[in-house]
Amino acid sequence: MTDRRDELAANLAHVEERIASACAAAGRKRDDVTLIVVTKTYPASDVRLLSELGVRHVAENRDQDAAPKAEACADLPLSWHFVGQLQTNKVRSVTSYADVVQSVDRAKLVTSLSTSVVRAGRELGCLIQVALDAESGERGERGGVAPDGVDELAALVAGSPGLRLDGLMTVAPLAGPYAGRQQAAFERLMEISSGLRAAHPAANMVSAGMSADLEDAVAAGATHVRVGTAVLGVRPRLG
Ligand SMILES: *Cc1c(COP(=O)(O)O)cnc(C)c1O
Repeated sequence: MTDRRDELAANLAHVEERIASACAAAGRKRDDVTLIVVTKTYPASDVRLLSELGVRHVAENRDQDAAPKAEACADLPLSWHFVGQLQTNKVRSVTSYADVVQSVDRAKLVTSLSTSVVRAGRELGCLIQVALDAESGERGERGGVAPDGVDELAALVAGSPGLRLDGLMTVAPLAGPYAGRQQAAFERLMEISSGLRAAHPAANMVSAGMSADLEDAVAAGATHVRVGTAVLGVRPRLG
C-alpha cells in the first residue's frame, strides 16, 4: 500500500512544477501565484498531512463537510476558503471558520455575511464569483453573478461592515461562448478585474484555474489557482 503522505507529497511536487513552468512561460514570478488546495470530500487527516507538507490555503465547497474538518484542523496554520454555492442558512456556520468566501454572488448573501461576521467579531475576505456565461441580471448554473452585475455587488461588499473586498473568482464555463476556451474565459475575467481595481485598488485577487486548466489561468494573470484532483486524487463522488 502506498503511504498517503508520500502520495500527497509527490502530487504536490508535480503541481508545484506545473505552476512554476506556467509562471516561467508567462514571464511571471512564482510568488505571484498562490496555490489553494481544494480538499472537498477528503478527510481532515489529509488536510493535516497537506499542512505538514507546507500547504497554507485550503478550500471547501459544502459547509456540512467543511465545518467539522475546519474544527478538527483548528490548530493548523491554514487559511480556509469557501468556494461553493452558499445558502444564507449556512452563513453563520461558514463565517465561524472561513477566512475568505470566494462565491459571493448576490446582495442578500452580502448582507447576511456582514451581519454574521460582525456578530462573531471576525473579518471576512470576499471574492465576487463571476459567471462568464450568465446573461445580464441572471446567475450562473453553478453560481456567480453576470459580468455586468460585478460593480454593484462589489460596492455593496466594500461598504459592508466586517467584509473586505479581495477580488474576483470564476469557474471556466462548460457551456456558452467560452465552453472549451478556458484561456479566453480567464482573459475576460482579467478585464473585469482591471475594471474592478480601478474603483477598488486593493481588490487584486483573481482566483481562476483548477487541475485541468491552471496553466491557462496563470497565463491569463490569475493570482490564485484552486487545485483538487491533481493533489488529492479523483474524488470518490461528485463534489
Ligand atoms: C472542486 C473545485 C475546484 C477543484 O477542482 P479540481 O478539478 O478537482 O482541481 C476548484 N474550484 C471549485 C469552485 C471547485 O468546486
